[in-house]
Amino acid sequence: MPIYEYICIECGEKMEIWATIAEKEKGLNVTCQKCGSKKVAQVFSSFLIGGSSSGKDISSGCGPQFRPGCCG
Ligand SMILES: [Zn+2]
Repeated sequence: MPIYEYICIECGEKMEIWATIAEKEKGLNVTCQKCGSKKVAQVFSSFLIGGSSSGKDISSGCGPQFRPGCCG
């Protein structure tokens, strides 16, 4: 059974929710165990991997300026 990790937006409490994929698709009703808020967001583990972005703006061949007709 997969574990879904949620974080409370109100207080930052982390929760680990065990649910089947079928349960997840139906929609999990996650409530913060600490403050009771329902404002929770799912944490994806991929957020934690390789997060060393240096704020570079990667544009796809169009250059830094937005000119009409630039992209053909
Ligand atoms: Zn909370």
